[in-house]
Amino acid sequence: MNKNEDKNIKSWKKESPLLNKLISLEETFWINPNLKKYKTGIKETPLSQDNVRDAEERLKRFAPYIAKVFPETKGTNGLIESPLVRIPSMKQSLERGHQQHISGELLLKCDSHLPISGSIKARGGIYEVLKHAEELALEHRLLTKQEDYSILDSDRFRTFFSQYSIAVGSTGNLGLSIGIMGAKLGFNVIVHMSADAKQWKKDLLRSKNVKVIEYEADYSKAVEEGRIGANADPNCYFVDDENSQDLFLGYSVAASRLKKQLEDLEITIDEKHPLFVYLPCGVGGGPGGVAFGLKLLYQDHVHCFFAEPTHSPSMLLGLMTGLHDKISVQDAGIDNVTDADGLAVGRPSGFVGKIMEPLLSGIYTVSDEQLYKLLKELVDTENIALEPSALAGMIGPIKLFKEGTDYLRRYHLTEKMRNGTHIIWGTGGSMIPEEIKKQYYQRH
Ligand SMILES: *Cc1c(COP(=O)(O)O)cnc(C)c1O
Repeated sequence: MNKNEDKNIKSWKKESPLLNKLISLEETFWINPNLKKYKTGIKETPLSQDNVRDAEERLKRFAPYIAKVFPETKGTNGLIESPLVRIPSMKQSLERGHQQHISGELLLKCDSHLPISGSIKARGGIYEVLKHAEELALEHRLLTKQEDYSILDSDRFRTFFSQYSIAVGSTGNLGLSIGIMGAKLGFNVIVHMSADAKQWKKDLLRSKNVKVIEYEADYSKAVEEGRIGANADPNCYFVDDENSQDLFLGYSVAASRLKKQLEDLEITIDEKHPLFVYLPCGVGGGPGGVAFGLKLLYQDHVHCFFAEPTHSPSMLLGLMTGLHDKISVQDAGIDNVTDADGLAVGRPSGFVGKIMEPLLSGIYTVSDEQLYKLLKELVDTENIALEPSALAGMIGPIKLFKEGTDYLRRYHLTEKMRNGTHIIWGTGGSMIPEEIKKQYYQRH
């Protein structure tokens, strides 16, 4: 941080009750003053529907290969997709516990149950590895786009990819996705893990011959080290979680798939039937990509909120100050220590923050204690076990009705809420070992 920015934080502190609340680790609800009408806001972004469609097409080309090497994806013909389910018992429980009616339907998007790596990273992370593999194979004339990509499941291709390596810095789940997919194709994969990363994630990767390098420091350091190592090796490709358009686009494909699922459930989204989506946010790529895809489809009828831990409100800090990746939570005196390992990110992606600035409705923060409480509640009511990070979205509708009434009034939503739909993005958890699931459950 330079002098100017330091001065900035000091003056911010004086003027902003919200910043002081963040620093004192209180839960907060922030409405984005820079949200614009879709038609204006979307013009400010460097990406478009064409980019999303290109990603969608690429995933379709790989589907025969994915179905072959990951048989658990046969049911979806090689598309990596998760269920969207109604959670009426959880809704009742939330309403009772918080003395707050939730107007509209409540659903859970179970990215926790995405095949292959059990988290939202199975979207972006796997997509970026596939894109890199395709580029290499096309460039070396081993493949054409018209071919059946299941030929990639062969010693010929595995030997070819084994000349190359892929590196990534991660708090855990991105490493799992990149590691499992990269190793399956034949790449050498190196995952730089932050101190927050859970032991079972490291063990799982090592069992797949992925090289795991551990750091005492947090996520930003793991990424930095990974980037330095990869840049020194021309055959090493670095998956840059802080800046990657490919990751972002891989996540964005979720939107058109969700649209189909909503149609199958006969849920309408339009002017009179608003959609609210609550997404746990770490560096921003996952929730940003999904939200971006949804805005392209539903425009002003979708309202996206990010959720962050009280100890890691990095995207909120970046957006409210306009400093994006020029500020970290540590700069504001916040420690970035949370059990929500997937969200333990002190500095947000500037690339994602700038795209989301005119499109995002708001951000709120949640305490770890609240995450564990919600974790247990979801098991008790719906028998669905998620990891702590994945529960951050769950309190969103309660917060919206209690603290977001200004937002509902400003956008003329109050009367429409009974026709509304709330989707909680459940970002991870199905791969947690049973023993650790039990420990999580007992924490509250
Ligand atoms: C990575 C992750 C997120 C957030 O994604 P970002 O791209 O880091 O913002 C949320 N939940 C879980 C479980 C994750 O692993």
